[in-house]
Parts: sequence; C-alpha cells; structure tokens
Amino acid sequence: MKAVMLETRVVQMKAEPAGIRVTFDGGQSGDAVFDRVLVAVGRRPNASVPGLDRTQVRLDERGFIVVDEQMRTAEPSIFAIGDVVGEPMLAHRAMAQGEMVAEIVAGRRRAWDKRCIPAVCFTDPEIVASYVLGRFREPHEEVEALVERAADETERLIAQLDE
Ligand SMILES: Cc1cc2nc3c(=O)[nH]c(=O)nc-3n(C[C@H](O)[C@H](O)[C@H](O)COP(=O)(O)OP(=O)(O)OC[C@H]3O[C@@H](n4cnc5c(N)ncnc54)[C@H](O)[C@@H]3O)c2cc1C
Repeated sequence: MKAVMLETRVVQMKAEPAGIRVTFDGGQSGDAVFDRVLVAVGRRPNASVPGLDRTQVRLDERGFIVVDEQMRTAEPSIFAIGDVVGEPMLAHRAMAQGEMVAEIVAGRRRAWDKRCIPAVCFTDPEIVASYVLGRFREPHEEVEALVERAADETERLIAQLDE
C-alpha cells in the first residue's frame, strides 16, 4: 500500500493520456495520476424483488425496506435483514440480524438491540473501529474500555502500515 490519506476528499477525476488525474482536498490537497481508480462509495438498496409490490412490505423514501425491532416488515410473514434495511451496512450486522430472525421464527423472544457495532474493515492487517450507539451513548464503563482497547489496536496497526 502506498498511502492512506486521512480526512481527504476526492473532488475531481479527469481522464488524461497518462491516466486518471485525481484531485484531493482536505487533509492532503493536490492531485496525482493513477492507472486505474476503483470507486467504492455510494451504495443504494436493491429491493426490486419480483412480487414485493403485491405484499404489504413498505419501502422508505430512499428505497430501504421498513422493519421493526424484530426485523418484521409490514407483511406479517416477511422479515428483512442486512443492507436492504439501511445503515450501518456491515457484514457482521447482517449476519447477527439473520441469526436473530431465525431465533424469532423458532419461537424465541428476541429484538434488535444495537448497543455497539464494530466497524470492521476487511484488510490485511484487519483494522477495527468501535463506536457506541443508542442508549449507551452516555459514558458506560464496560463499553468505554472496549472502545479504548479497539482504538489502541487500530493505532498499532496503522503504525505498522506506515512502516
Ligand atoms: C466494496 C465493499 C466493501 C465492504 N467492506 C466491508 C467491510 O470491510 N466490513 C463490513 O462489515 N462490511 C463491508 N461491506 C458491506 C458488506 O458486504 C454488506 O454489509 C453485507 O454483504 C450485507 O449483507 P446482505 O446479506 O444484507 O447483502 P448481500 O451480501 O449483498 O447479499 C444479498 C444477496 O441477495 C442476492 N439477491 C439480490 N436480489 C435478489 C433476488 N431478487 N432474488 C434472489 N437473490 C437476490 C444478491 O445477489 C446477494 O447475493 C462492504 C461492501 C462493499 C460493497
């Protein structure tokens, strides 16, 4: 990896004979020419399941499926989990919601109680950031300690990348 540019936005991309000129702004402003650019921002839900419009399932104004805290849609027999129900769009969150729905369908009493969802980056080495959601927004000893540990580990890994 050549560089990690923090707090920096891409403001322009222009094709030139030598490659694609990318202009940056913020933490590191300026421009550079690259052979290839992979754009991995800007995701939208794909809720175009055939027949969904003949159910009571509701979509919000951005096209995400509307669910309650048990991932139930307005159609009693249809649950929805993962990216299609909105942010944060993370793999382990989708898996946890899937497991929870399986338990609910099996008759267990469960609800989606998001206290702290780690933001996991599938890189090598893996970098993990943790943040606190919902009712634990107020200082909470156990969660604070966990976040601190994750932050220390992230810093250590970033230092390794810089070496
Ligand atoms: C570039 C990129 C990087 C990412 N990095 C991370 C990361 O570092 N950490 C992290 O946690 N998450 C990351 N994510 C997000 C993570 O991949 C998603 O949050 C996760 O895959 C969501 O799972 P899902 O089951 O909701 O949806 P998906 O994994 O998208 O699965 C949906 C499946 O449904 C199928 N499908 C769609 N329509 C139909 C249909 N009509 N009939 C049948 N099947 C259908 C699709 O083909 C797909 O296989 C990243 C995503 C992207 C795009």
